[in-house]
Amino acid sequence: MYQKLIFELSKEGRRGHVLPKIDVPQKSKEQWIPKEFIRTRDADLPQVPENEVVRHYVDLSVLNHHVDKAFYPLGSCTMKYNPKINEQVAADPAFLNLHPRQPESSAQGALQLMYELGEALKAITGFSGITLQPAAGAHGELTGLLLIRKYHDVHHHKKTTILVPDSAHGTNPASAHIAGFQTKSIKSNPEGTVDMDDLKAHLNEDVAGMMLTNPNTLGIFENQIEEIRKLMDSVDALLYMDGANLNALFGLVRPGDMGFDVMHINLHKSFSTPHGGGGPGSGPVAVNDKLKDFLPVPVVDKTDARYYLSYNYPDSIGRVQAFYSNFGILVRAYAYIRMVGREGFRRVAEQAIINANYIKTRLKDHYDLGYTAPSMHEFVLSAEKQKKRGARALDIAKRLLDFGIHPPTIYFPLIVKEALMIEPTESESKEMLDAFCEAMLRIDEEIGKDLEMLHSAPHSTPVGRLDEAAAARNLDINYYKPN
Ligand SMILES: *Cc1c(COP(=O)(O)O)cnc(C)c1O
Repeated sequence: MYQKLIFELSKEGRRGHVLPKIDVPQKSKEQWIPKEFIRTRDADLPQVPENEVVRHYVDLSVLNHHVDKAFYPLGSCTMKYNPKINEQVAADPAFLNLHPRQPESSAQGALQLMYELGEALKAITGFSGITLQPAAGAHGELTGLLLIRKYHDVHHHKKTTILVPDSAHGTNPASAHIAGFQTKSIKSNPEGTVDMDDLKAHLNEDVAGMMLTNPNTLGIFENQIEEIRKLMDSVDALLYMDGANLNALFGLVRPGDMGFDVMHINLHKSFSTPHGGGGPGSGPVAVNDKLKDFLPVPVVDKTDARYYLSYNYPDSIGRVQAFYSNFGILVRAYAYIRMVGREGFRRVAEQAIINANYIKTRLKDHYDLGYTAPSMHEFVLSAEKQKKRGARALDIAKRLLDFGIHPPTIYFPLIVKEALMIEPTESESKEMLDAFCEAMLRIDEEIGKDLEMLHSAPHSTPVGRLDEAAAARNLDINYYKPN
């Protein structure tokens, strides 16, 4: 199916709207605009009536899969449904029309929202300080690692190394590197959690800290957390939590209570704001008392009478964002938190865990499990068995699109061969989970019947199987019409 470009719909003389002729004297262009800025020919804009413009973009809006269209079990990404009330609140002109340079006195409501969101996130995670500045999870990681650096500088510790488990998200070692550390990879044990012997073998005075994802990217709870905390203390190292997976924890346990010193929270994942395609995110970083003094300025604070931006942090690592945050995301997260409420978060986490385990139980006789330990909000299948019969994880993922389902994350985490990482989130019904399971079982049956069809899937999408490497490296997204 070829989707015409808006330029190809253009017909000379078609107009989006027609206004009555101006019946008052007009200045000419030359009287308004300096001569050197006046076009010598008309701008090359498509000429399309308004109804066709609307139809064109409505068509385009459903070509790609998205969470408002159907199930999106993309592991580690928490593609939950984003309630529309969040959008409505964020689009309130009182928020929308704020300018970051506005005087504090005229932005008290926005500052109050930021303050209260910070307090709520501290309560949910069990930490005593927070910055809302980072614009994404990886940006939060970098901020957290710079805080760890600062802590060691202030205490005159000579530290060079961050430990990262081999199940970690690729952003972890990348962020540590950008923050000026070297990284050492720690193996996972057969249960899918940190191999304590390997951790001990890599532990020495050079270690500045360890980044841990809990539950880890296999969806398994790191149950040796207390022992890991003690090991870190033995070398004055800090413990960082990659909090992208908070969906499995909130309302149940708090990372601050588990012994972490610092964590980032992906508001665009667990706190229900639309994300994907690199769109705006928000990765607040919460810290305990050890790191509070180093938080990026400004920190939102309050007196009895007003909210204000505090720069009174002499040991701050400085700004990590030009202004204060991706504010619109904060508004959405705030609306979501107020709507779900204290009790609600526990139910969200429990439902996310139950949904993942339901799918796992239905599929585990047909697909291998990466690891057999109990699962939290997501789990990882291995398509090794299917690969031997001729269909790889990639083929299965592509074929799922023909069932109107977004594929799971594939080939990650790296420690599971032919990995299919499935995160249903809490927002799906049993019927939807069943439809997904049935699609997965049917694809497994198709392997014996029509391999060719699987290798060339998807068949029902606007574009079929792409050469993924070429598509990523030679992006062709420009429309260029030579005149
Ligand atoms: C998504 C994710 C990140 C990175 O978050 P971004 O907002 O995409 O930068 C880091 N770690 C884990 C485990 C994640 O799932």
